[in-house]
Amino acid sequence: MIGYKQPCRYCEALVEPSDSVCPMCGKVNPAGSLRCPVCRNPTRRQWANCSNCGISLRLTCPWCEEETFLADYCDHCDARLQVVCPNPKCGAEQAPVSDTCLECGRAMK
Ligand SMILES: [Zn+2]
Ligand SMILES: [Zn+2]
Ligand SMILES: [Zn+2]
Ligand SMILES: [Zn+2]
Repeated sequence: MIGYKQPCRYCEALVEPSDSVCPMCGKVNPAGSLRCPVCRNPTRRQWANCSNCGISLRLTCPWCEEETFLADYCDHCDARLQVVCPNPKCGAEQAPVSDTCLECGRAMK
């Protein structure tokens, strides 16, 4: 299947399956299926919770405050659904699913 291109989920440009970022629109994971941002289990838009780790797949976007499906980007404002740990020694990115950093345990706010 090497070289078999697939349409980007966001802009429909053809991308290599191995591309982690779309060269046209710059979004991550352009050819992949929807995945849980915490455990990377494949998810479906109809689901309320991840079937693997059980987190809620509905959240309020921290940027526009609309309810969105938990994926790589907000359905409404297109913002990337990632927050960065404020600990300067950590700086891990994670989905906005917890008040504490999943890496170092520090409060996110
Ligand atoms: Zn794209
Ligand atoms: Zn999960
Ligand atoms: Zn939003
Ligand atoms: Zn951290």
